[in-house]
Amino acid sequence: MAVLTPDQEAAARTQFAQAAAPVEAAKPSETKGVQLPPSVSVKELGEYLGVSAVEIIKELMRNGIMANINQQIDFDTAALVADTFGIQASPMAMDAAITEEIVGEDTSQVKMTTRSELFSLDGEDPANLRPRPPVVTVMGHVDHGKTSLLDAIRQTKVAAGEAGGITQRIGAYSVEEKGRPVVFLDTPGHEAFTAMRARGAQVTDVVVLVVAADDGVQPQTIEALSHAKAAGVPIVVAINKIDREGANPEQVMRQLSDHGLVPEAWGGQTVMVPVSAKQKKGIGDLLDMILLVSELQELKANPAKPAAGTVIDAHLEKGRGPVATVLVQTGTLRVGDNMVVGHIFGKVRALLNDEGKKMKEAGPATPAVVTGLPDVPTAGDVFQVVSTEKVARTIAMQRAEQHRVATLAQTRRVTLADLAAQVQEGKIKDLNLVLKAESNGSVEALKSSLLKIQDPQVRINIVFEGVGGVTESDILLAAVSNALVIAFSVKPDAAAQRAAEREKVDIRQYDVVYNVTNDIEKAIKGLYEPTFVEVWEGRAEVLQPIKIPKVGNIAGSRVVDGKISRDSRVKISRDGQLLLEGQIVALKRFKDDVKEVTVGLECGIQVEGFQDFQTGDVLDAYLVKQA
Ligand code: GDP
Repeated sequence: MAVLTPDQEAAARTQFAQAAAPVEAAKPSETKGVQLPPSVSVKELGEYLGVSAVEIIKELMRNGIMANINQQIDFDTAALVADTFGIQASPMAMDAAITEEIVGEDTSQVKMTTRSELFSLDGEDPANLRPRPPVVTVMGHVDHGKTSLLDAIRQTKVAAGEAGGITQRIGAYSVEEKGRPVVFLDTPGHEAFTAMRARGAQVTDVVVLVVAADDGVQPQTIEALSHAKAAGVPIVVAINKIDREGANPEQVMRQLSDHGLVPEAWGGQTVMVPVSAKQKKGIGDLLDMILLVSELQELKANPAKPAAGTVIDAHLEKGRGPVATVLVQTGTLRVGDNMVVGHIFGKVRALLNDEGKKMKEAGPATPAVVTGLPDVPTAGDVFQVVSTEKVARTIAMQRAEQHRVATLAQTRRVTLADLAAQVQEGKIKDLNLVLKAESNGSVEALKSSLLKIQDPQVRINIVFEGVGGVTESDILLAAVSNALVIAFSVKPDAAAQRAAEREKVDIRQYDVVYNVTNDIEKAIKGLYEPTFVEVWEGRAEVLQPIKIPKVGNIAGSRVVDGKISRDSRVKISRDGQLLLEGQIVALKRFKDDVKEVTVGLECGIQVEGFQDFQTGDVLDAYLVKQA
């Protein structure tokens, strides 16, 4: 490599500064905003922010991260980078929530809105707003005492005098300090925090950053700090283990100051409280400070409306079925409410608090255990109460459908028969499965046998496993994740059967584990030997190519024979010569997505991997069916 002389280097620096200058100049005077997905490549981030990938790489390097242009970076890191370019990043809503109920009998009319809109106070009448408790997440380096601190807070403050003081771990709990409640999320660490944020859920009002006084600031301390900063959540520092010999709180304060957290005692903004989780010292002070910091945020919510919030934790429990811990964020949740969470809907059968006691209702910032859902929802999902079961059901289905259209418009459903064909086409790398069986034992046995299947081209991925018959929710889940359903000694109910037909989800019923693994193995290896036929559907002629920003050219066409449907494949030919066979990925009439277009009508057709349409091209649509 050539070595630069000092003069050359100085010249290079000037050039570099000039090259960087336009970005500086382009900085907006007021902060710009951008929505980012949970994970982006360096290249994509550059595109989102309107700066070159090189600038992004340089900024990452300044933060000690060596990344190449294709490397994926998580939301919080991306947000920090965005911030250095004067752009405020917020998480892209990964699945929209629904606020407005269906109008009359027209089940297609449901207004979608993002989570942030759902929980925003903007549209609320101030007269309906009431103060609500803060929700706290504890973060910090491993072994600095996060779990001990959460336990200490709980033991010191939960229901003094409760027999035995035994409380369940449900993912969140509520304590009182001088009569004022504080809610703690019981999963410490920034992974859970970030996973929630990646799903668009922002539930934390205050972060408690735990730093061990005898160990000081460590890599995960800095990570946690960055995550909290990226989320714009205020930090209270708990300097833990002050009982230890070698504890040096001053050093912790110095180190944190170097990272921008200057203690109040030194004229800064950050509250730092010395505590000992082990000796339960300083716990009251810490809670006081959390309350003080959260008071500045004037946390409010409207309890007088149907509840909405976030799933904190969920699992399947023997005898009780699916059990979910939710945090109500707005409104009041009641027994008997119709709830929809992701693609799951059901009635709230019982509400329990963190001591396992029955509650009739749960208001804003109350953690509650909910039973009565037919399936286990995903932590981080938003839940919402709607007026009737029918509404809940329609919303759940619509949501699954939206997801399906958005993510799988171009994918054929997996069926066991054409698995091998799809593998060969390189379409599938994960074989997604939904497993249902009559007992936990069978689920486990099946799962372990399936996960043992090794294949260089296909990885078995179990997207959902559960005990009980195949339900409509299972089918919707399978549809959105392009999964096969394995029903082991259980059957689909009628609604599931109908949904499977509609969604073209393949349900396979078995009673012997060996048969399941054998079929899957055979299918993967291509021994399942299906035969396919092409069923012609119709023909369209290209009137003119239409340029769509970000998409490219689509074919502005007229259907001249039969019909074209959204699921069809097409053969594109020009002057009698076949140019390409491909999958239709979008079919539009004017601006609307449509399922099919019949003879005589005009439409826009987008074909996977082809843009070079010319007037007069012929598109023959056909479906591929198993013979
Ligand atoms: P986490 O990984 O951050 O959740 O840390 P833990 O809560 O598991 O604590 C790690 C270790 O530090 C355990 O052995 C605890 O008993 C110990 N520990 C936690 N807090 C204190 C404290 O205040 N004083 C002392 N001496 N030890 C503590």
